[in-house]
Amino acid sequence: MVGKPFLKTLKIRRKKLKSYFHQTLIYMSRKLASIQKILALEPIEGADAIEKATVLGWQLVVKKGEYKAGDLCVYCEIDCLLPDKPVFEFMKARGSRVRTIRLRGQISQGICFPLSILPADFQIVEDVDCTEILEIEKYEAPIPASLAGKVKGRFPNFMHKTDETRVQVLQFSLDKHKGQTFYVAEKLDGCSCTYYLKDGEFGVCSRNLELLEDDENSLWKVARQLDIETKLRSLSANYALQGELIGEGIQSNKYKIKGQEFRVFNIFNIDKYEYLNFFEFIDFAAKLEIKTVPILDKNYVLENEIPKIIKLATIKSTLQKDSWAEGIVLRPLIELRDLANENLLGGRVSFKAINPEFLLKYGE
Ligand code: ATP
Ligand code: MN
Repeated sequence: MVGKPFLKTLKIRRKKLKSYFHQTLIYMSRKLASIQKILALEPIEGADAIEKATVLGWQLVVKKGEYKAGDLCVYCEIDCLLPDKPVFEFMKARGSRVRTIRLRGQISQGICFPLSILPADFQIVEDVDCTEILEIEKYEAPIPASLAGKVKGRFPNFMHKTDETRVQVLQFSLDKHKGQTFYVAEKLDGCSCTYYLKDGEFGVCSRNLELLEDDENSLWKVARQLDIETKLRSLSANYALQGELIGEGIQSNKYKIKGQEFRVFNIFNIDKYEYLNFFEFIDFAAKLEIKTVPILDKNYVLENEIPKIIKLATIKSTLQKDSWAEGIVLRPLIELRDLANENLLGGRVSFKAINPEFLLKYGE
């Protein structure tokens, strides 16, 4: 009960901030571990010791009889790196990392723990983040030197970083935007790369940082190969091009590409502080002669069933038909902002569905 008035003031504060800046300033980082409800339990064919649970939009295997539908639990998403504690001891053999697995033919993503793993005085409220209290961290793959580069400074604040929220935590948004026309792009597994021109200054950024020009750095090398600076200078406003760098030396080059390529997925007008809508984006990229990420569907009517969207994402890559695609990214044809949703970066309606087969194959 003590927490309630506090939550209320927080909500009021958020509202105020939003109306001042016309954009969501509060962006929740991913809740790796949180208190969640077991939404459903179903039998798994041929298995009598385990059953399938649904938590948020995730499906996972639990021990039969351990939970009832409607129970709260501590749900740990894939990518959790569990600390050295007795309750997590059984995960040590798996490197203490929560990954996608397949059990009796059933894909299982995440782990449920009983609430008793939380400290006795921890307030049990659905959806509350318990990543920190449990000392859970996020598994991050190491970045090779050729991509890391030399740091010039922080990521500039006149544009957004690249990020996509997982569809599994967006049921509310799906219900809200169901029936609207979206486009579907293939999600490429490479390295995030931002090129921008702002008031005459050309810059190159990785996921979180701005990089100094350097012949050894792939992001800069590709910028020079594609003559990005000249292309941006030919425009009449300040723009950022955000895309994925793929190819040799990047994420095991799953697409078997010679050299390296930049595939744009965002064009951002810095002066207007907005992304181009889909068709403008396509025309703009074509005029600049910059390849976009593969577009799989320009006329997808959004469904609100997460398993259906995961099925859409379970495809081979259009760049390499023998390899699984990492997944898909879905966006409305006309940019939409949902300021009430703190899971969406900048309130932008845009999200990803990762292919579970890809995660299984690459041990994620
Ligand atoms: P998480 O947020 O799930 O913990 P993460 O932050 O590492 O994971 P990714 O899974 O890498 O995020 O997904 C977001 C990234 O996907 C973006 O930063 C971008 O670099 C990349 N990406 C690849 N293809 C696309 C695409 N078609 N559209 C948008 N982003 C894409
Ligand atoms: Mn992210």
